[in-house]
Amino acid sequence: MQSTARSQPKRRPAPSSADCCPLCNGAGFLQSDVPFGHPDFGKLWPCPDPRHNAERLARLAKVSGLDTAELGLRLSDFRAGDETTGQVLRAARAFLAEPAPLLYLWGGYGNGKTLILKALTNEFNEVGQMAVYTKFSRLLWWMRQVFGENGDREGYVDRYGRVKRVPVLCVDEFDKANLTAFAQEFQFDFLDERYEAGLRGECCTVFASNSPPEELPGYLLSRVEDGRCLVIENRGKDLRPHLRR
Ligand SMILES: [Zn+2]
Repeated sequence: MQSTARSQPKRRPAPSSADCCPLCNGAGFLQSDVPFGHPDFGKLWPCPDPRHNAERLARLAKVSGLDTAELGLRLSDFRAGDETTGQVLRAARAFLAEPAPLLYLWGGYGNGKTLILKALTNEFNEVGQMAVYTKFSRLLWWMRQVFGENGDREGYVDRYGRVKRVPVLCVDEFDKANLTAFAQEFQFDFLDERYEAGLRGECCTVFASNSPPEELPGYLLSRVEDGRCLVIENRGKDLRPHLRR
């Protein structure tokens, strides 16, 4: 995965319509003005013109798993009211700047893990790395739905492939699902494939859980505790009082 730092978008794509945005001619994106061979060559960045905002918000809400109100949440909305909260926020920002293959964020109830996960989803989307937020139970339901009673293997493989390819996947309540045999098999395959793809720099995955990693099955624990991955314990109390208006 590339660093979030990027060159200034300058080059305009070919005009598509005369009466739209003067920056991008209505394309909604800009190309980087960099020479061939530069890591940003050929990359597209969202056009900053505010006329795209409504359309972009609606599109982001559709794919990110967040509602339109949640799309405004950023890490900067949290105030580090105490040292513990400050540590968690610093770790989240460091992960954003240089993502690890896996991040496992765990801690007590109501201390803001979900809000941090949603803010991270938005922060990644803002820098053009497509991020999706979901609860693990919902992901399981979505996968099981297609497999169903008829065992639609083809449909399952198709959905599995789509989940595997999401560049940044933020999975909340990783410990809150009913782990049937199907769920256990999916949990292992899914985490293992995301871990391997993460090591290749193709994606990153964030998990939030109330349980310490030690409570994961050994085969999952060994991946989460890989020195190249990141475990953050949130020992804080409820973060919500620290949210700014
Ligand atoms: Zn534009």
